[in-house]
Amino acid sequence: MNILEEFVRIFHHEPDLIAKAPGRVNVIGEHIDFSDGFVLPFAIHDYTTVAMRKREDSIIRVLSHQRPGQIFETSIPELNPSGKGDWERYALGVLWAMQISSGVDLFIDGQVPLGAGLSSSAALECSIAVAVNDLFTQGHTLQALARITQRAENEYVGMPCGIMDQSVSLMAQEGYALLLDTRDLSTQQIPIDLASNGLELLVIDTQVHHALVDGGYAERRADCEAVAKKFGVKALRDISMPDLLARKNELTANEFVRATHGISEMVRVHQAVAALEENNFVTLGQIISASHTSLRDDYTVSCPELNVAVDEAMIQGALGARMIGGGFGGSAIALIHSKESDRTISAIAQAFEKNGYKKPRFFTSLPSAGASVIQRVGL
Ligand code: ADP
Ligand code: MG
Repeated sequence: MNILEEFVRIFHHEPDLIAKAPGRVNVIGEHIDFSDGFVLPFAIHDYTTVAMRKREDSIIRVLSHQRPGQIFETSIPELNPSGKGDWERYALGVLWAMQISSGVDLFIDGQVPLGAGLSSSAALECSIAVAVNDLFTQGHTLQALARITQRAENEYVGMPCGIMDQSVSLMAQEGYALLLDTRDLSTQQIPIDLASNGLELLVIDTQVHHALVDGGYAERRADCEAVAKKFGVKALRDISMPDLLARKNELTANEFVRATHGISEMVRVHQAVAALEENNFVTLGQIISASHTSLRDDYTVSCPELNVAVDEAMIQGALGARMIGGGFGGSAIALIHSKESDRTISAIAQAFEKNGYKKPRFFTSLPSAGASVIQRVGL
């Protein structure tokens, strides 16, 4: 689809500009972005594109190619963080957080699979943020845009996500993973040369989301925050594993296992960076697998489909595999030899069929570039 032509067809005039932002996979560092931890995601090649035009009045019109139907229409004074709604709140939240000074027409086309743990939400938010920043000459840095889009998702959508997804969608560079310190948002680009080592990262989208456990994210985050509070520190980042063990009896069972995941995962991120610096993908694989065990057994956010995907990938000779993203469904990643890709994919697909699971989707991606304005039309 040509987004410019589509915009003209819908709104009967040209957009001012077109911007895009990618989804992401997180190599290691799961569920610790809200605990001031380090995370190591990279941007995938799939992204969300938006076409935007500034209006003379305060009307806001939004349409997504992935949600065909009526154009959603509201206005700046009607933007309300405590209101109700659907997918359009991801877009409106960014417009609200950026305090746009006039209305806009907005058309969205996303290639990142929705709700698969690849952060289509951040791709959507960041594509809009980059477009608004340029069109309204707001001059925000990428770090500021990460905070703004996180605020949009936290306060307007009501999802208490950390800042990782937005940061990598905005700051990623092709061929690198982004080591992000979520405490101060400082970043370091870490080369991750899978291709010349005959490797690739396989993403297995289980296509399931266990709705029963929605709210599980907030509950676990609250446990981690409760532990930091009991220790009198800002976040889990400030607690070492020996400290945690020494004061285990002050914590509830859930607080203890969830903090165990958070603190051990922070250690694994640093081990992963060290492994990448040595080009040691065998060790990287082991660290990735250890992350899965921790997410499955301590943080308890995995599910049968994710475990089958991970176990089968390992049986087929993956160097490491783990669930990614929020959990209870979504995607897993497996670090595999490229030449084993077809065999691994069909073995996982067969294992899913045997268990009566939905048909999974598979894709691989190289570390790609972050958000940008890709076209200014008539400006
Ligand atoms: P993830 O970010 O892992 O894909 P989320 O549940 O955080 O999963 O975000 C998915 C939600 O974001 C969708 O259900 C939808 O409401 C919204 N969304 C993302 N991309 C689009 C899009 N292109 N069009 C409409 N809504 C979208
Ligand atoms: Mg999301």
